[in-house]
Amino acid sequence: MTAPPKLTLPAQRWSRRPPSRVPTFTMPGWGRALARGAAMRCPACGQASAFANWFVIRARCPHCDAPLGLVPCDTLPPYLTIVIGLAIIGAGLLIADRDGGLRYTTSLIVFIPLAIVLQLSLQRPIKGIVLAMMMKLDLIRSGIGPDDPNPAVR
Ligand SMILES: [Zn+2]
Repeated sequence: MTAPPKLTLPAQRWSRRPPSRVPTFTMPGWGRALARGAAMRCPACGQASAFANWFVIRARCPHCDAPLGLVPCDTLPPYLTIVIGLAIIGAGLLIADRDGGLRYTTSLIVFIPLAIVLQLSLQRPIKGIVLAMMMKLDLIRSGIGPDDPNPAVR
């Protein structure tokens, strides 16, 4: 009776992203990347807008071909925008009503439009900063192509 053959698997190395499918681009230092993101520019080159429209990030940078759409910054920017906007509104309410004389209707007329304006104006810079942070940390989805189960649409 012979022993069954030993089954050995070849050693396999996992990489964060397949180099053949994702184009390479160079990222600047943290300060410059975050400044470009806050300016809503491509964090890699800073030459083109990172946004296709008001909220949607381009699939690729038209200047340096960085895969901006593969960065999974979908839900963190709205959460951060809400937290920062609410902190500003809360501080404003406390300051405006420090003597207790703020009328209810006045607070509604002033602070609801202010909250809307803050949310709309903070969303893009915060999304750009998160985009820059994730690109700097190399947090990029791995696939490009029709067979990708998680295609980049934003
Ligand atoms: Zn670029």
